[in-house]
Amino acid sequence: MSRLMSRSKRKEAFMKEAEKMFDELDDWYEQNPKASFEEIESHARESRREMMGKSLGVVINGRDVGKTAEIPKCEQCKEEMIFKDYRKKTVYGVEGDTRLERAYYVCEKCEGQTLFPPG
Ligand SMILES: [Zn+2]
Repeated sequence: MSRLMSRSKRKEAFMKEAEKMFDELDDWYEQNPKASFEEIESHARESRREMMGKSLGVVINGRDVGKTAEIPKCEQCKEEMIFKDYRKKTVYGVEGDTRLERAYYVCEKCEGQTLFPPG
């Protein structure tokens, strides 16, 4: 998943997920032509959860991953913190599970002082 995508790039990635969901659902129905409406619905619910989770990831990760222009200061010693890397974090939502990427800062002087802006 790339960072800081333009709106059209985010849309493209979003549409790709939506298309994947359609194809998957359409294929499934082809293989299960006798499925009841309830069965189709329950299958679609699973695919939707997956699509929603990924799409939200695209919308959120493609916009802001918490890497600030201004270097954050350590709460303890007020020194500038050091950008380490991006950490992945999974949020279990109502509509789907989303893998988020957040910038990760540490203080060199104070052990255990870490930050994921904006919090
Ligand atoms: Zn510190």
